Amino acid sequence: MQDDIKRFSCAAKPVHTKWYLHPLTYLLSAPDLVRHKCEIRKSGTENLKPPYLLLCNHNAFLDFKVATKATWPASANYVVAIDGFIGREKLLRNVGCIGKRKFTNDPSVVLNLRRVVKNGDVAVVYPEARYSLCGTTAVLPSGLGQLCRFLNVPVVTLICHGHHINSPFWNLHDRGVSPTEAEFRLLLTPEQISQLEPDEINRKIAEAFQYDDYAWQKEKDIRVTYPKRAEGLHKVLYQCPHCGTEFRMKSSGIRLYCGACGMGWTYEENGELRAEDGKTGFSHIPDWYEWERENVRREVAAGTYSSGTLDVSVESLPNARHFIPIGRGTMVHDMNGFTVRTTDAEGNTYEMVKDVPSLYSCHIEYEYLGKHGDCVDLNTLTDTWYVYPEGSDFSVTKMALATEELYFRYMRDRGTPCAPGLA
Ligand SMILES: [Zn+2]
Repeated sequence: MQDDIKRFSCAAKPVHTKWYLHPLTYLLSAPDLVRHKCEIRKSGTENLKPPYLLLCNHNAFLDFKVATKATWPASANYVVAIDGFIGREKLLRNVGCIGKRKFTNDPSVVLNLRRVVKNGDVAVVYPEARYSLCGTTAVLPSGLGQLCRFLNVPVVTLICHGHHINSPFWNLHDRGVSPTEAEFRLLLTPEQISQLEPDEINRKIAEAFQYDDYAWQKEKDIRVTYPKRAEGLHKVLYQCPHCGTEFRMKSSGIRLYCGACGMGWTYEENGELRAEDGKTGFSHIPDWYEWERENVRREVAAGTYSSGTLDVSVESLPNARHFIPIGRGTMVHDMNGFTVRTTDAEGNTYEMVKDVPSLYSCHIEYEYLGKHGDCVDLNTLTDTWYVYPEGSDFSVTKMALATEELYFRYMRDRGTPCAPGLA
């Protein structure tokens, strides 16, 4: 059993970045920033001094490098999920990272962010809490407004463009996109924050976070010539708009196609999809994704949404040392949320239940570390499970969409509907 395992501490206090690591963060970021000709546009932040709260959109690892340059020479502390700490906890603690488990309500994170601003540093938060699946804004937590009120420091946004196009979450290969852009903008002063209700602050943040990397690509006429640029796209676009079949989409080279009806699309250099034969339907990738969301919403509204019972294997992350296999079992994701049960080699049994109100969104991985396959990442305050379904009759993207749509419906039913883009 796992009772005697030392747990990762989310309460550990953040430190001011060690003096010898601070210049290193900049030096390590510089080559990629030069290679991608990253241009940071400042608005109201030209003479900004810490402390402040920095809210960033999240598409790729390059985000951190741009944030390092934008905030330089100030010292910054980043909220990072335990998954990012694996095997390098000491280093990340010394750089000043604040640990958390994804999509949990952990009060210690808020207290740690207050410590950061009291230290006179920059508190960096990626409120989407995961890489965007298709280069558009992911759901933001509605606790942001209250966090801003609590910290009472300037709120700054850093919205990067081109990072998803360069290295999409569904295929991380670096496509050498250049130039990339970032907007480093003072959103709210403490005086403005004190005059706004948390909901109004949320609305302003949600507005500032509107982005669409594919629209940006077309606007800037960026061409991606990578010959395998479509590979992995079927992970996000899991449902065929031509025949409606789910989980049979495939991709290869610059092709996306349906294994059920044979319909095929070319993924053009400018980021658009074009039918090989017949009507294209969705040429803009985020439109296809939102169509899938509508279909999931319909299943949720009808009360019929279910993944069915999936065979799974599960690895647990009680601390940041390494994953520990906790056996095989089953997962069901349905109108009640997630239920996962496993039994390990010694016959010990494990269970994780995440009901609908407990989860407004969830983190998923595609082909995790290139060898483990797709998975759903489920967390409690003391444990993290990477749940790997077996077979091919599922989509973790659909589960992520369903998690959000189930939560939205729950909030609507109890008379407190979520504002657009917020949960
Ligand atoms: Zn089809």
